[in-house]
Amino acid sequence: MELKFPQGFLWGAATSAHQVEGGNVNDWTEWEKANAERLAQEAGQKWQLWQQEQFPEMFKPENYISGRACDHYNRFREDFDIAKSLGHNAHRFSIEWSRIEPQEGKFDEKEIEHYRQVILALRERGLEPFVTLWHWTNPVWVRDLGGPESKKFPLYFSRYVKYVVEKLGDSVEYWCTLNEPTSVIVNSYQRGNWPPQKRSFLAVQKVYKNLAAAHNLAYDEIHKINSGTQIGVANILNYFEPQNKSSILDKLALKIAKYYSNEEFLKLTKNKHDFLTAQYYFYNKIKFPSRINNKAEVNSDMDWGIRPEGLYYILKELKKYSKPIYITENGLADVKDDRRADFIKGHLKWIHKAIEEGVDVRGYFYWSLLDNFEWDKGFWPRFGLVEIDYETLERKIRPSAYEYAKICKNNILNI
Ligand code: BGC
Repeated sequence: MELKFPQGFLWGAATSAHQVEGGNVNDWTEWEKANAERLAQEAGQKWQLWQQEQFPEMFKPENYISGRACDHYNRFREDFDIAKSLGHNAHRFSIEWSRIEPQEGKFDEKEIEHYRQVILALRERGLEPFVTLWHWTNPVWVRDLGGPESKKFPLYFSRYVKYVVEKLGDSVEYWCTLNEPTSVIVNSYQRGNWPPQKRSFLAVQKVYKNLAAAHNLAYDEIHKINSGTQIGVANILNYFEPQNKSSILDKLALKIAKYYSNEEFLKLTKNKHDFLTAQYYFYNKIKFPSRINNKAEVNSDMDWGIRPEGLYYILKELKKYSKPIYITENGLADVKDDRRADFIKGHLKWIHKAIEEGVDVRGYFYWSLLDNFEWDKGFWPRFGLVEIDYETLERKIRPSAYEYAKICKNNILNI
């Protein structure tokens, strides 16, 4: 069967500055240095035996230091050549705030020039830039002032955004202000796994409010500069199902989890979205009060279950907002590349079904173009369409990338 996608559909992959560029100096790089030893020691308790055996890198402290990463900062042209050869017509990446404003109020024109070249390189290859302005990392001075917990965060963030958009706005049509605010709220302020490692109900509330305010302010600033541009938030949306479908308590747990993970941020930023997004990784079965199981028949190297239909249900729920929708991330860690092609096709099949049923989906960005630095897990999870040899920095296109390329080039999924 041939499943055709709408004309002009954006096909591509996503990356983020900290995970691929290398050479950054920000709150994460400092945290990595302070925590690499500990993370390596804890790997034995965190991961199952098969994962420990398959990925012994997790026991080495250097796995947890982003360092030169993929050196994408210097090799972006080579990487975009690959994306072009794979039939992509769009690419999502992020601008690193700590490069643009390394000290409070001191903006670095050289770094603006760097990102101008990045955007130009994309345009020269026929790739539409989809630009994220904050993919979790903060300049050290922002961290020292309290990071997203500080009341001042929205002002600082929108000032940085204004600067960037004034300089680069002419060549960008799509901006994502923030990447996955709720992931930061949960991992940095509720579970305490990521910097600044807090576990505080109060901090969660503050950060929720401040990130929403930061988006709202930035949205207005960008539109003041360029009213025609398209702005959204790159949001993670999880699918939830009660563990026991007839349990009232499980259903209640589902309502609460769904509200905080999928709905509250959209509510706090109401009327400040030109498009909506879905970053889909998890089909969660939830058991009261909050136990979550996302395993499936087939799972990724990180043991995350693969359930493509969850994305369809999420898209159907977004339909009521009557906005264009972009899938700004969807991907899996799969070092053997024996699940990736089916993963992509499976999700695209359900996206296509949603489109047929009237959901206005306009683009799909696989996570990720390159293997990269997976935050507190480090380098061992391999999400890339392109494999990176971290010793030599050699790029090797994985077979699944060619399968995805056929779809991108023809705008058709054959199943
Ligand atoms: C994030 C990426 C991350 C990916 C895989 C998303 O939540 O935006 O930065 O690498 O998931 O975990």
